Amino acid sequence: MKETTTNNDAQNSECTTSTPCPRCHRPMDAPPGATINYCPECGTPITPDPVRERIVDLMLKGIRDDMREAVVRLEREQPERYAGLAAIISGTA
Ligand SMILES: [Zn+2]
Repeated sequence: MKETTTNNDAQNSECTTSTPCPRCHRPMDAPPGATINYCPECGTPITPDPVRERIVDLMLKGIRDDMREAVVRLEREQPERYAGLAAIISGTA
């Protein structure tokens, strides 16, 4: 006797407009077709996901540039350590 217990009661809340506020966690219901830029309760700025992704990209790029500079500095100021890292990465350590 097979008894399939598929309890798919998980609410498929695909309502992307009612994401909770990151600060006060109240659901923010924007009218259809409209976007809200601030939480009506506490005034926290709301960033749409694409904008947030863009910010992440920019910050990652900034970190990347910083790291590149750090590596150049390491190569110049601590050549032994740099050579050690390079050896580990290239498998010749
Ligand atoms: Zn809020």
